Amino acid sequence: MELLYKSTRSNSEPVTASKAILKGLADDGGLFVPMSLPKLSISLEQLAKMDYKQTAYEVMKLFLTDFTEEELKNCINNAYDEKFDTSAIAPIVKADGAYYLELFHGATIAFKDMALSILPHLMTTAAKKNNVKNDIVILTATSGDTGKAALAGFADVKGTKIIVFYPKNGVSAVQEKQMVTQKGDNTFVVGIKGNFDDAQSGVKAIFGDKELAAQLDSAGFQFSSANSINIGRLVPQVVYYVYAYAQLLAKGEIQDGEKINVVVPTGNFGNILAAFYAKNMGIPIEKLICASNDNKVLYDFFETGCYDRNRDFILTTSPSMDILISSNLERLIYRIAGNDAEKNAEFMKALTSEGKYEITGEMKAQLKDFYGNYATEAETADVIKEVYSKANYVLDTHTAVAAKVYEKYKADTKDDTKTVIASTASPYKFSRSVMSAIDSKYEAVEDFDLIDELTKISKVPEPNAIKEIRTAKILHDTVCEVGEMKDVVKKFLGV
Ligand SMILES: *Cc1c(COP(=O)(O)O)cnc(C)c1O
Repeated sequence: MELLYKSTRSNSEPVTASKAILKGLADDGGLFVPMSLPKLSISLEQLAKMDYKQTAYEVMKLFLTDFTEEELKNCINNAYDEKFDTSAIAPIVKADGAYYLELFHGATIAFKDMALSILPHLMTTAAKKNNVKNDIVILTATSGDTGKAALAGFADVKGTKIIVFYPKNGVSAVQEKQMVTQKGDNTFVVGIKGNFDDAQSGVKAIFGDKELAAQLDSAGFQFSSANSINIGRLVPQVVYYVYAYAQLLAKGEIQDGEKINVVVPTGNFGNILAAFYAKNMGIPIEKLICASNDNKVLYDFFETGCYDRNRDFILTTSPSMDILISSNLERLIYRIAGNDAEKNAEFMKALTSEGKYEITGEMKAQLKDFYGNYATEAETADVIKEVYSKANYVLDTHTAVAAKVYEKYKADTKDDTKTVIASTASPYKFSRSVMSAIDSKYEAVEDFDLIDELTKISKVPEPNAIKEIRTAKILHDTVCEVGEMKDVVKKFLGV
């Protein structure tokens, strides 16, 4: 049966999966959502015998129904290969009473690789299927990790160009170095004088600019998105929650059908939404625990039913979660509004004009699968130190936010259901904050010496992604004001 996708903001004609991936964002500014969530077509027991690629096929075929088996398997094989430093792709590590699902074994050592190593293949396959002749220009706003993962995925992919905007003063030293040293004639990297929300809003405005789209079309280009607003990002993320459950079952850690909880360090709400989709597909997940840092707009939302971005934007040691407008929440709002595009569009309009909206009691009642909490900067640092001293396991700052929120959840609820924590980045990516948390003596140590120290204490070998940037040349140095983003895009493309 064909699964079609519709916009969260109007009742326009549904489109195929490949069209939704190509477009990224719907014409009305809404996000594409599947008309229904498919159910897994094989048993958990069968899934427990599968490797990552086989699991990916079983999950993704249910969402991307207009891709042939051969097309989809090609995409999967090209994505989950030696770019990952383990054949498990997403291994599970048991430490300090929880199961850490390590999603950082790809090329850029953050979980964004899980989806962005396959998105370019899905996109070029979708372009072929739909006879697209234009070059596809990927326009991306990043809070640090998406940018590099998208650059790495799309670099030198024929028929594509990629332009990445990042907050000039809002990413870690390693994140910035990774991006500005990106090779590939089709790659462009720009620092903006603003924060992530500015970058994301700027990109959305460029997407919505019909005049620019027409200009681009006559020059042989069309935009698409590599952000998690693209359904082609979300679908591959469902896979590792299915895989995690199956792995726990295969290892005898859980019984068939036993419920687990999932904790996700959250920013744009893409990763946790994927877990929600996995639950709806039939994976026995009890609670979806949404972990925020000091930018706790989501925690407040789960508490009160009011989403309010009117507050200071706080720069934290978990920069990939420094977000006040969690774009993917819109997909959930649409769903709990009874798939009512008009109602959802009103909320989103209020978010743009007043910076907030309040859902109804009836909608809030449908959020009982979710639990929200947050970790302060001090709590995040403490938990890094604590897990390291207890279990000899080094968490990155984002994963540490999740670990702390899990502690709070247990204290709040006394729930002892087995729990998977999404481990979203390698500690190497945030070595400065991680090492300072473990011992203040590291504060005076130089960046790359610090990485050597991390290798010593963690006993985890230095990833290639870090080795590469030690000597890499800086290839991108464009910096612009928020208001200049559109001009920068036009200049890069020569239109
Ligand atoms: C992007 C990112 C997050 C947040 O994920 P969302 O899908 O945006 O909620 C958390 N941790 C790391 C390391 C990230 O890169």
